[in-house]
Amino acid sequence: MEPVNVPLTRPSIDRRDRENVHAVLESGQLVQGSRVAALEKAVAAMIGVDHAVAVSSGTATLHLALLSFGTGPGDEVIVPAFSHVATANAVELTGAKPVFVDIDPGSLNIQPDGIVPAISRHTKVLMPVHEFGVPADMGKILEIAESHHLPVVEDAACALGSEWSGKKVGCFGAAGSFSLHPRKAVTSGEGGVLTTNDSGRASFFRIMRNHGMDDSGRTPDFVRAGFNYRMTDIQAALVLGQIERLETLIARRRAVAERYDRELHGRFFRKPPFPAKGRTNWQSYHIVLDDAVEQPEFLAFLREKGIGANYGAQCIPLQTYYRRKYGYAAGDFPEAYRAFRRGVVLPLYDSMSERQIAHVIECVNGYRS
Ligand SMILES: *Cc1c(COP(=O)(O)O)cnc(C)c1O
Repeated sequence: MEPVNVPLTRPSIDRRDRENVHAVLESGQLVQGSRVAALEKAVAAMIGVDHAVAVSSGTATLHLALLSFGTGPGDEVIVPAFSHVATANAVELTGAKPVFVDIDPGSLNIQPDGIVPAISRHTKVLMPVHEFGVPADMGKILEIAESHHLPVVEDAACALGSEWSGKKVGCFGAAGSFSLHPRKAVTSGEGGVLTTNDSGRASFFRIMRNHGMDDSGRTPDFVRAGFNYRMTDIQAALVLGQIERLETLIARRRAVAERYDRELHGRFFRKPPFPAKGRTNWQSYHIVLDDAVEQPEFLAFLREKGIGANYGAQCIPLQTYYRRKYGYAAGDFPEAYRAFRRGVVLPLYDSMSERQIAHVIECVNGYRS
């Protein structure tokens, strides 16, 4: 038998997606044309918000979302200690300080009970993350935000299509933020989308992504010092069809996750939860190893078997930049540290074959047995 190779992920790009991209190339309108407008319309409708604004990356969405509240030097933004480093980098880019809160060991999302003690008179924004697509506890988070009069930005980078309490994530905060990087469930290559119900905020996003240009008047005017955070029509065309078939993609991802849940024995690791009050889009299948199993060894074993497993996210305060600047130590965020040092993402994507799924299960179950 041929060896089985299983990449960590594989984008779902079909013939129609390729034709859509080709049509843009033929049209000659490459940047922020009709495909970007169509993508924004589709995302706003799916999330259930008034406005969606497409930009060049998930990091750009977070940066603009924070700037739209005037976040800057002297301010603090509350974020989970375990996430993609971009969550905290976006705060640093505004000149504000990320204030980290440890995570819940089950959901791997911010511990709501840890938020209140982290609030100070400098707190500007609460920025929970729906890590790996698993919805954060928006009930408790919104309650805290309201009682402290703080806006919420949802870092939903991984979580397009995830739900909390029957509604799509990205509709709960004052702004929602999505990434369309190839590691996410649907991809434009690079890209991001902001969601909001506030038309003033949507207009700020549109102006800031395009050099500060306000084109609502008779002649365009430059009203702010903006960025070039635009998305191309090529990118929008690539992802539009994937968004239309998102429910099918999520159903296939869930089927793989259910197989893992049933057939992985879990003798030396904790499996990811099926959220009780919502649903994940299964962006990742993230397990946490027991203390007796070393992550590098386990990853090397899987890679040797042709399985592209990897670690999941960072314990951000312990990355060199944050450790040096703020002086964090290894014991400061124990659950985030454990998830970082013991976390492993197994391959999961919609087009996984029966043979690939069985190979992952067999290899994981066979480790050290
Ligand atoms: C992927 C990711 C980002 C960054 O998105 P990019 O599109 O790569 O810039 C930010 N936050 C979280 C939680 C992510 O998973």
